[in-house]
Amino acid sequence: MQSMDDESVITETQLTGEAANEHLLRPKLLKDFQGQKDLKENLQIFMDAALQREEPLDHVFIAGPPGLGKTTIASIIAHEMGGELKATSAPALEKTKDLAGILTTLQEGSILFIDEVHRLKPALEEILYIAMEDFELDWIIGQGPTARTVRIPLPNFTLIGATTKTGQVAAPLHTRFGINFRIGFYSPEELTHVLRRSSIILDTQITPEAVTMLSRCSRGTPRVANRLLRRLRDYAQILADGVITESVVLDGLKKLKIDQNGLEEQDRRILSAIIHTFDGGPVGAETLAISVGEAIESLEDFYEPYMIQQGFLKRTPRGRTVTRKAYQLFNIDPREDHEDQGLLF
Ligand code: ADP
Repeated sequence: MQSMDDESVITETQLTGEAANEHLLRPKLLKDFQGQKDLKENLQIFMDAALQREEPLDHVFIAGPPGLGKTTIASIIAHEMGGELKATSAPALEKTKDLAGILTTLQEGSILFIDEVHRLKPALEEILYIAMEDFELDWIIGQGPTARTVRIPLPNFTLIGATTKTGQVAAPLHTRFGINFRIGFYSPEELTHVLRRSSIILDTQITPEAVTMLSRCSRGTPRVANRLLRRLRDYAQILADGVITESVVLDGLKKLKIDQNGLEEQDRRILSAIIHTFDGGPVGAETLAISVGEAIESLEDFYEPYMIQQGFLKRTPRGRTVTRKAYQLFNIDPREDHEDQGLLF
């Protein structure tokens, strides 16, 4: 067999800075995972049943926008099931040997987490099909007429595939996952629980009013809520007396250019571009991304889902269009010719 390295596997000890901070806030047990009641109830039952039968958990598919807890669920499953976690992402798996390298280092009950699973190359998908179903690895030895395939047995493991784009996951791969979860945006109420838990871990004082305010401006996303909490902790420490109050939140959000809808400057730039440059739309995602200097992936995965959920933006077969609510955000009457009204920031 070819030599197989483990460079595409991320270990927890390699984390530094903000990533380490995020790691600190990441719940390890299901009871600490806030919100998502239905998902948690189901996951608890599936894990209990597998543990009772002394079997690994069935393969798990998790879909949802970034920052909602897909990686967190993978690490919770590993902790709760007592299996070792190997985390990687599809773009890091270039060749079949990269995936084979990881598969052959798995142990009984290991959890293999593959992020952005919609970006797996077809040749790697083929390997996964057999690995997921038969716990075997088909490996070709030699080249040309002397080439032959050997089947290497793999230990029983659980694959967790995460994606921001369910529609782009190959159907044969998708159907091989026995457990299917979709994580949606968190309600402000759910985010208050995330924020309270994080403020205790970070040893930061925050008033209940400030928690409520912050939870409404965190785009329904725990990662954003935690990031804002860390920034407001900085403001409170340097510009106030260390406590995050309503006025610290108000001042801080203004400095960070986040409005009361939770929209960031780049969100408003995107909406403004559609209104002012593309006459309200429809405009293709690629053209829009270029016009605001954004990578198409972050436009599609991060900015758009929240603006669609909040009713500012629509995706149509012909492209993106803004809604009446977006015009109202800029105090523009959608029926008027808005060419003279200029950019509002
Ligand atoms: P994704 O993999 O979906 O991009 P992550 O699992 O990395 O998102 O979550 C981002 C951060 O948000 C985590 O570090 C964790 O601290 C926090 N987080 C996510 N979901 C929850 C939750 N349900 N409860 C508490 N914290 C959460």
